[in-house]
Amino acid sequence: MSHDPATLNITPIENFPRPETWDHVELLDAKAWPRRETKNYMLVPTTCFNCEAACGLVAYLDKSDLSIKKLEGNPFHPGSRGRNCAKGPATLNQVNDTARVLYPMKRVGPRGSGKWERVSWDHVLDTFAAQIRRALVEGRKTEVMYHVGRPGHDGYMDRVLQSWGVDGHNSHTNVCSGAARLGYALWTGADRPSPDHENAKFILLLSSHLETGHYFNPHAQRIIDGKLKGAKLCTVDVRLSNTASMSDWWLAPYPGTEALLLLSFAHVLLHEGLYDREFLEEWVNWRDYLAWAHPGEPATFERFIESLKVRYAYASPDKAAAECGVDAKTIVEVARAIGAAKRAFASHVWRNAASGNEGGWQVARCLQFVGVLVGAVGAKGGTNMNVQDKFVPAPFVKPPPQQVWNELLYPREWPLSHHELSFLLPHFLKDGRGKLAAYFTRVYNPVWTNPDGMVWEEVLRDESKVELHAALTPTWSETAQYADYVLPMGVGAERHDLQSQETHAAQWIGFRQPVRRVAMERMGKPVEFTWQANPGEVWEEDEFWIELSWRIDADGSLGIRKWYESPYRKGEKITVTEYYRWIFENSVPGLPEAAAQEGLTPLDYMRRHGAFLVKEGTWEVHMKAADAAGAANRGEGTLEKDGKPVAIVAAGAPRAGFNTPSKRCEIFSKTMVDWGWPEYATPEYIKSHVHRGKFDHAKGEYVLVPTFRLPTLIHTRSANSKWLYELSNTNPVWIHPEDAARIGVDTLDLVRVSTRIGHFVNKVWVTEGVRPGVVACSHHLGRWRLFENVAQDTYAMPLVRREELAPGQYRFRRIEDIVPFASSDPDSGRIWWSDGGVHQNLTFPVQPDPVSGMHCWHQAVKVERAHAGDIHGDVVVDTTKSMAVYHEWLAKARPVQGPLRRPLHFARAVKPAPEAYKLEAYKLEGGKPAGS
Ligand code: SF4
Repeated sequence: MSHDPATLNITPIENFPRPETWDHVELLDAKAWPRRETKNYMLVPTTCFNCEAACGLVAYLDKSDLSIKKLEGNPFHPGSRGRNCAKGPATLNQVNDTARVLYPMKRVGPRGSGKWERVSWDHVLDTFAAQIRRALVEGRKTEVMYHVGRPGHDGYMDRVLQSWGVDGHNSHTNVCSGAARLGYALWTGADRPSPDHENAKFILLLSSHLETGHYFNPHAQRIIDGKLKGAKLCTVDVRLSNTASMSDWWLAPYPGTEALLLLSFAHVLLHEGLYDREFLEEWVNWRDYLAWAHPGEPATFERFIESLKVRYAYASPDKAAAECGVDAKTIVEVARAIGAAKRAFASHVWRNAASGNEGGWQVARCLQFVGVLVGAVGAKGGTNMNVQDKFVPAPFVKPPPQQVWNELLYPREWPLSHHELSFLLPHFLKDGRGKLAAYFTRVYNPVWTNPDGMVWEEVLRDESKVELHAALTPTWSETAQYADYVLPMGVGAERHDLQSQETHAAQWIGFRQPVRRVAMERMGKPVEFTWQANPGEVWEEDEFWIELSWRIDADGSLGIRKWYESPYRKGEKITVTEYYRWIFENSVPGLPEAAAQEGLTPLDYMRRHGAFLVKEGTWEVHMKAADAAGAANRGEGTLEKDGKPVAIVAAGAPRAGFNTPSKRCEIFSKTMVDWGWPEYATPEYIKSHVHRGKFDHAKGEYVLVPTFRLPTLIHTRSANSKWLYELSNTNPVWIHPEDAARIGVDTLDLVRVSTRIGHFVNKVWVTEGVRPGVVACSHHLGRWRLFENVAQDTYAMPLVRREELAPGQYRFRRIEDIVPFASSDPDSGRIWWSDGGVHQNLTFPVQPDPVSGMHCWHQAVKVERAHAGDIHGDVVVDTTKSMAVYHEWLAKARPVQGPLRRPLHFARAVKPAPEAYKLEAYKLEGGKPAGS
């Protein structure tokens, strides 16, 4: 594939230097103006690490000292095409952060006491190697855990953890996308959508993709491309987001009623005959549906449609209008526009309503239902599945899957979760379900990010529950301060990672690189380890895991070392360069040929370009030819082997179909019936835990929507990005004028927002941009620091006092606002903002959805004028109450009875061997649950 902008379907950036000139680029020095002086740069591509989208960046390194002067978009990157949000270029702030952790630090004194000493990397590696080796030798393979906040590489850690034989991968998914994943997976087996916005005629978003959302920059530019070609845009959001403001329709249903709104679109499509009969007849398991819903009756397509009309009679536009608070005429208008778009209907929900509500997983399922009805699944201008648009090349060797199952990750209460019950880890540990011998938090700040953060704090302080904890992080954080070791890791311009994302109907890989290392090597200066080219002793993780794994099994007796031996130098330790060299030479179709055309090796090609387009036009993957040799025709186009569908006959040939048990899109899910939820065998509307019937505004009761991002902040990694905090430095509570009048507040007044376990005090923004009855607050601000001497030169972390008011009852009280400070960067003395925002997540109890396991973020709250003595930024929380709420929600789940722990066809992070799925086999391990 070419990387010419013309074939990437972008307007060429005329003046952007071509990659072949990147060794030496002369530019005028802006600081010298009005003199015309030039500076010499070397340009090195990398990918951004500041959200999941992995946009391309190009670093400009001053050739005189190889310092990074700026980062811009890489126009030759197929996903981002040279366009970035503010967070990409702000990588420079992270590199030059004057408060960076530059060396490994070990705590001095008790955990959380705020005192640290510098130690060597050898000490760190030997300490963790010994602790992990001990756990492995003693068979404690569920006590080693890697907990990732921001992933950024594909497959690397799976390989590491499986080489150790542990079941230890934990993620942030269940506070982010777990619900949507389940809803999507039930339809096609793929747990993420990949909308083809660019070719769509109608785009339906339950998110804010023009400003934030998943893959937002690559998506935003393609949504605009689609709009410029005439696509209509509808946004469903209780808030008037920037995305909603750019839409043809903004629908703001009552929180938690979104699934019903979507079903009402389906209702119109069914009743007005706007569905795609050809697609439904061929690709939906409607016969299975009829056999379940109407056993013994003739299975005709007409009967199927009639049955759906009856089933979803409760979602007529009039009934939905009454329940959702959206005008019935508008529902019909939008549904007809969707029907008119036919297969060119792109849609997306990620976070938003799916992550806010109990039953939120049904929002994604109902959204996909609408897409299925118009035949938009995998269609041009429709919605692909992530498996079509993501390419993960295989490494040189892959260890076998682990033989153990960790109930701290996938407990038996949630057999259908997508994925780990990550935010309940401290609750499980407090309940005596196990302990951790070695715990790595990786770019992850659960004390701040997760609900019920004080339970996290309590557990992270407890050495009987977490024996050894390392925070692998580029910045100080509220969690790192409770670790035993804080280990500095590189930002996007200081590390290797290989990443592919489903940004559009194509497959590409992006290569994150340590740009100074690459520049030094281009200039003939060999670098053995990336940290030698990074500031201080900032490591990259790839090398950390190689070194650690080698030390865990220095003599090879545990069978670990062999996975880290070079494919090029027998018996010797692999280098990070060799790791990627092998992948580029052997696992990426077309790359060796493209490299040869330029006279480069595949590795040099990737070092030069930073990305490679593997495939374009990835529609209709379900139509891929299938090898059906030996399969029996069950009738109705289904080919079976051993009683299981393996292919579908379509357009006269066997086709791969979808990754579901039936190989079709499943409107009826036997999985849901078999795994304890027969009432949800089909897409349905579930009344949320914040259903409006539960609120009395006259008593000050409201729904708090706390899930929206700000476009310019990086979750918990922007506190030292001066450019970003200059843009966004406050997160007031949005309140509708009617509610503000009822409460008696105006913009900038203080309110106390109380949840079941505590309260926070924040400023008000009175706006018509939110539904009456709903208050909203962005989760992107409200950082804090406890110590003056740690992370003191911060742009976003006010100093607070942490007080224990009674056992389990805590108060955080601000004692200093954001203030200018002295540092080697003169901008730190020019800070003009003081707010920094207010934290809210500490006051949220955990609310795990009984089916998906997703934390249901929306909160039932009381909103009132601040009390006498309340101070802006106050956060008060009671962990004894929060544990009670946890047990209440736990009781709603339906524990699996066996024989398996989870459907084998469901995705699972770092999937174990099939034997580990068996409850019997598991019980034989010492006669007790792993991790206990
Ligand atoms: S959308 Fe912004 S933060 Fe995310 S990868 Fe792209 S440039 Fe970076």
